[in-house]
Amino acid sequence: MSFDLLVKNANLPDGRTGVDIACRNGRIEAIETGIAAEAQTVIDAADNLVSPPFVDSHFHMDATLSLGLPRMNRSGTLLEGIALWGELKEILTVDAVVERALKYCDLAVSQGLLAIRTHVDVCDDRLTGVKGLLEVRDRVKDYIDLQLVAFPQDGLYRSPNAEANLLTALDMGVDIVGGIPHFERTMDDGARSVRRLCEVAAERGLMVDMHCDETDDPMSRHIETLAYETQRLGLKGRVAGSHLTSMHSMDNYYVSKLLPLIAEAEVHAIANPLINITLQGRHDTYPKRRGQTRVPEMRSYGINVAFGHDCVMDPWYSMGSGDMLEVASMGLHVAQMTSREAIRYCFDCVTSHPAKAMGLEDYGLAKGCKADFVMLQARDAIEAIRLKATRLAVVKGGKVIATTPARQAQLTLQGRPDIVDPASYAPSEG
Ligand SMILES: [Zn+2]
Repeated sequence: MSFDLLVKNANLPDGRTGVDIACRNGRIEAIETGIAAEAQTVIDAADNLVSPPFVDSHFHMDATLSLGLPRMNRSGTLLEGIALWGELKEILTVDAVVERALKYCDLAVSQGLLAIRTHVDVCDDRLTGVKGLLEVRDRVKDYIDLQLVAFPQDGLYRSPNAEANLLTALDMGVDIVGGIPHFERTMDDGARSVRRLCEVAAERGLMVDMHCDETDDPMSRHIETLAYETQRLGLKGRVAGSHLTSMHSMDNYYVSKLLPLIAEAEVHAIANPLINITLQGRHDTYPKRRGQTRVPEMRSYGINVAFGHDCVMDPWYSMGSGDMLEVASMGLHVAQMTSREAIRYCFDCVTSHPAKAMGLEDYGLAKGCKADFVMLQARDAIEAIRLKATRLAVVKGGKVIATTPARQAQLTLQGRPDIVDPASYAPSEG
């Protein structure tokens, strides 16, 4: 029996070690120790971590890599970012969107990031971003699962044509219904937008992913309405609340009522640690709030929490590298999730948890799953985050689609080793 690909001696995120993975026809056919079989390609993982691919469940691909166009965000705030994006939208072309998005996808693949949910602004009447990203979704489909969210950036009701444009975008093939209730003119309009958008999703059989309460205002409580509408319309498991930063500042008693409602409605929570720590607390003097939503508390209620990258080099965020390990690292720091098992949980927040939020099929390292994975220069998931480990090989459908040489430094110090391998510093107990 001959396989297309056989990976030997892999460590897995669940702690198993010395495992072999045999792939054929784009699927994992066996995953166990000591597989003795021929294969067209054999890779020795040499006790490095092999993980399912990274998944980014919250991104803005229509804006990525536009840093400096038409100018920089001087205040660094969310609101100046939105204003700046408004200036850029006027001069955006489909070709420019496609070119930047494809360039980002190249970077994503090199980082083992093979599934991305991107919001796409529908408040531009020309729907430039929608046209561009629909083309990109098609062009990258052999290597990236790209989901598009119809996102009314300037407000479903605050922006004159947003509702009509959103419906047109869905007609054109955009996958998911988005929203931004905290940006509507009033709390009432925000709640009304949540209701309307959830109804649109229910009518069309679509998922929902809303920017929800991305503010430091503790009274921004649209997540409550989102959880309620999810229940009312039978959308359980198909709705995500992105950001949820107001929860950082909410009254503790109110949160103790809110979290069970989110859990009951099976609403997924998507935090965006890099962006939340950067944009929130901007109106504070000292102490400055962190703004990240309550990750450990949501975890304790069994809510599915994912971490998204959100932005890379765009009007809101001038940093970013397509590295979901950087996202996980920031998430665990901000949430003070520093126990060994909490760090492992943060690895799941950039792999299996966003895969669940996005409804990805046959994702994971098990017999019958898609043969998609990434081999990292690290012994385990904790080490991978600590090191922002090099992606030695990225595999899609049983084929290697990206490789990076291992990171090693040469030393020229008398009496000291010649080579420093960062992965060799792992503690003796995982
Ligand atoms: Zn966003």
